[in-house]
Amino acid sequence: MSQPHIRVAIIGGGLAGATLANALIKVPHLDLDLYESSPELSERGAAVGLTSNAQRALDQILPSMRQSLNKAGAVLMNSSRIVLGSGPDAGTLVFDLAGAGDPGVVVHRASLMREIIAPLPEEIIHTSHELSEIRTEGDELEIIFQNGSVKRFDAIIGADGIFSKVRNYVVGNFSEHQASPAGFWDCRLLIPFEKARSVIGDQFFELDRQYGWIGDNAFIMHDVLDNRTMVQVVVSAIEKDPPNDRKRPLTKELLIETSSNWLEGPIAKGVIDLLLEPGDLKAYSQWEQKSTPTYSKGNVCLLGDAAHATTPWQGSGAGLAIEDAMILGHLLSHIKTRDELNAAFKAYDAVRRPRGQQVIDSSRGTGQIFCGQNQEIGLDPDKLRELLPGRWGFIMSLDVHQHKQDALEAMQAILKTDVE
Ligand SMILES: Cc1cc2nc3c(=O)[nH]c(=O)nc-3n(C[C@H](O)[C@H](O)[C@H](O)COP(=O)(O)OP(=O)(O)OC[C@H]3O[C@@H](n4cnc5c(N)ncnc54)[C@H](O)[C@@H]3O)c2cc1C
Repeated sequence: MSQPHIRVAIIGGGLAGATLANALIKVPHLDLDLYESSPELSERGAAVGLTSNAQRALDQILPSMRQSLNKAGAVLMNSSRIVLGSGPDAGTLVFDLAGAGDPGVVVHRASLMREIIAPLPEEIIHTSHELSEIRTEGDELEIIFQNGSVKRFDAIIGADGIFSKVRNYVVGNFSEHQASPAGFWDCRLLIPFEKARSVIGDQFFELDRQYGWIGDNAFIMHDVLDNRTMVQVVVSAIEKDPPNDRKRPLTKELLIETSSNWLEGPIAKGVIDLLLEPGDLKAYSQWEQKSTPTYSKGNVCLLGDAAHATTPWQGSGAGLAIEDAMILGHLLSHIKTRDELNAAFKAYDAVRRPRGQQVIDSSRGTGQIFCGQNQEIGLDPDKLRELLPGRWGFIMSLDVHQHKQDALEAMQAILKTDVE
């Protein structure tokens, strides 16, 4: 006898939701629908870095993705060069993080998203569907959309981003579990490669490497994208008075005040000129979810930023989302009936939440080091060399096969307890 179909809704068609959809369309006993509030599935913003663990997790979901990443113009991070950008030691090389054997890639977000959406059947994607409420109707979950439509499912997976409505359903509407400012702002700009090279300096573009400039109160980064046609420039800085609407105009005064100890160094002046040229850039507050008591409630669960929005300092938010999708896909492919959904979601919570929390806390601490705010390390190049590189160890060393196995064993243990 064939298995009864289990109806699953994914809410949110960002990187997390679309990656999960790829994992779930392969599971024959699931009927999948993906709902996105915007009129199309797309990614805004500049580049996203995928560390080696994220690429391994993506391989588990989409084995052809290595090729697709090349099509999407991914650039290998052959090395990340960390340099001091402010103060008397400005220009001092701190270290090269050689990517030999285990390199990350940087890819333009829109191009990555295009490749992830490509395998999805059109009929499962419902754009212009904004979830407004979840109700429990007997054994079923009812979704009420802003456009008036109402649908029923056996399970709902919230991939609806940092200000997730599904999160409110799962963890309750308590302020301590909502996203809040992390203490930094940042701004980003994409510019043509030749322009960046002429303003910032030829010597910084000899290799396709990412440069990170550590300094007093701020951090500057630039990396090469899209087959050496574009460069992403990022400035991040300490934020003491977060604006309510999470953004402020990027003015010359703000940049000069932020980088007052950088102006004699090799990088700040060129970068400030580049950032001021468009005239309308904004500085965005970085927000994060500081605490999350659970990723699941009943047959509803969270993934991606809805579960664990983190600051971008360790480049791991998207990587976490891809790992989430790998684990959920694995667990849901091993259940047989809707009665086992809850065990799958509890097992997912058990293996994924500790990792999400560790990344959030580590990432905030890494930002403080990059902005020269760690009391013990300051801007001492020797201490930075000793204490900074190891912070990525726990992120990149994830054994994806073991992680899947741990999740499956957790689910089997829960199912066994439920029977007893
Ligand atoms: C500045 C910055 C730089 C970053 N750099 C990196 C990096 O280098 N590497 C890395 O791994 N990560 C990085 N991240 C993190 C990464 O971008 C995010 O973790 C990832 O994109 C989250 O994807 P998501 O799908 O969970 O959320 P989102 O991308 O926010 O997608 C959520 C989707 O849900 C939709 N939605 C929202 N509400 C509803 C609703 N009610 N109903 C239906 N749909 C809804 C939205 O329209 C959206 O399409 C960075 C983040 C930032 C802010």
